[in-house]
Amino acid sequence: MPQRTDLLSADHVTVAFGGRRALDDVSLSAAPGKVTGLIGPNGAGKSTLFDVVSGLRRPQTGRVTLDGHDITREGPARRARRGMSRTFQHLELFGRLTVRDNLLVAAELSPARRDAARLADQVLTRLGLTHLADAPADALPTGIARLVEVGRALVLGPRILLLDEPAAGQDPEETERFAALLRSLADDDGTAVLLVEHDMSLVMTVCDEVYVLDLGRVVACGPPQVVQRDETVLAAYLGES
Ligand code: ADP
Ligand code: MG
Repeated sequence: MPQRTDLLSADHVTVAFGGRRALDDVSLSAAPGKVTGLIGPNGAGKSTLFDVVSGLRRPQTGRVTLDGHDITREGPARRARRGMSRTFQHLELFGRLTVRDNLLVAAELSPARRDAARLADQVLTRLGLTHLADAPADALPTGIARLVEVGRALVLGPRILLLDEPAAGQDPEETERFAALLRSLADDDGTAVLLVEHDMSLVMTVCDEVYVLDLGRVVACGPPQVVQRDETVLAAYLGES
């Protein structure tokens, strides 16, 4: 059951493509100041769940609530105004714009848009990307491009941040810095972070709680050190790598 302290909750969500259930009665919640991990093999339904939570896909059954409001029928723009932002597994940057302009375009959409330039610069500093501000986005290595994608989500000042494989393509040093950023977003800003990620050491280091999806179902959920030892999880997922 969702706790009173949860910001976001998805309850009994089902999504079918044709006859096949990509999500089968999935429930999940995310709390402010916590990093919640969502892991599982390819095709488990992680990105589909993000689409349902962010308003890009209507579930056949179930509901999504934010701050106790039922937002199941609200579109992505409305959810964004409520403080939700996300990144995509497939990068959505403007390749011919600079890093800074990619953030500015997003910042213009923010409620604080009069300060768009300042917001963009603050986020660039926080991400350690100031030296790349004028680089065209399509010239960036994937690991850096993913950070810019995270920056685009951050300029909106989200209360809840959904990250779909943000560390893919990062080298170990970049991943370590990224882990510190995620903790800071949760600990210092009180953001509810929902993290889909394949890098197990990142997930196990940074998350307060982890959900494991397999074939559209939640097969385990709990603190990382508990989930890590769960037999079902080892069989479904961790045993693979
Ligand atoms: P994950 O992100 O965990 O790898 P996805 O959510 O992308 O998994 O996919 C879950 C399942 O749903 C997969 O079997 C995938 O092929 C299927 N799927 C995802 N999107 C669509 C779609 N638009 N149409 C049909 N099937 C889809
Ligand atoms: Mg995915």
